[in-house]
Amino acid sequence: MQKLIITVALTGNVPTRELNANLPVTPEEIAKDVSRCANAGASLFHVHARDILEKPTLSPSVFMDIVQHIKAVSADVIVQLSTGGRAGKNWEDRANPVKLLPEMGSFTTGSNNLPGMIYENSPQFIDFLATVYHQTQVKPEIEVFETGMISNALFLQKKGLLIPPLHFNFVLGAPGSMSGSARNLVFLSDSIPPESTWTATGIGKTEIPLAAMAIAMGGHVRVGLEDNLFMPDGQPASNARLVEKVTAIAREIGREIASPDEARAILSLNPAWKNRIIDPRENPIPSPAPSSP
Ligand code: ZN
Repeated sequence: MQKLIITVALTGNVPTRELNANLPVTPEEIAKDVSRCANAGASLFHVHARDILEKPTLSPSVFMDIVQHIKAVSADVIVQLSTGGRAGKNWEDRANPVKLLPEMGSFTTGSNNLPGMIYENSPQFIDFLATVYHQTQVKPEIEVFETGMISNALFLQKKGLLIPPLHFNFVLGAPGSMSGSARNLVFLSDSIPPESTWTATGIGKTEIPLAAMAIAMGGHVRVGLEDNLFMPDGQPASNARLVEKVTAIAREIGREIASPDEARAILSLNPAWKNRIIDPRENPIPSPAPSSP
């Protein structure tokens, strides 16, 4: 079995400090939390940005501020920026985090219902964002809330816009989407090309049970306050405590934990691009938003 890649979804767009006081929001807080989680065994960090009012933003300068803070304390970790739709619907705005040249970005290849909203990713937007991933050669994590999102990703691969091996994240247990059952996880992980890698994300109470299943099945794991605010015993969670829970389960089962460089090898990331996002020769940012399509 491959070593286990632990991803942390640190902040998200929805949680607030009122819901969980441990939520990292400012660049300083996010970087501190990354450091704690990296020490506990996490190698990959899924990053959302908040403005000074703590509301979701897709501002390239805020993303860059967060990345600079993270890289100052945990130079080795893999940063994955979110292109999620809750922070804005404009296509260019959602593509901007990818244009900053992080090692990875998120990419939801379809639409679904989430609490109180349609998470809208039209066929035209998916083609547009796939083209940005292709041009920048940033590795997308395909976010799969429904089975059809796998078919859409494979169609983009057929068109030459996504380059295999693909990496999928199965996001299960969100109200309005596929439930966090073992049957669904087995079905989805059986539905992707054999050379692909995959991660499981359980929303809410399904977070740790799905993590345990993925560890046993040879998949990888995402945890974090974006997805779940509580420990299994009902106590308020913190990102580091969730990572510690995952590493404890992995240890009991005998699954080794991947370092950031081992995670890069598993995910077929180019190690020379580890710091492309903060290399001024590659990335003279923060760049202003380009014109709309
Ligand atoms: Zn996210």
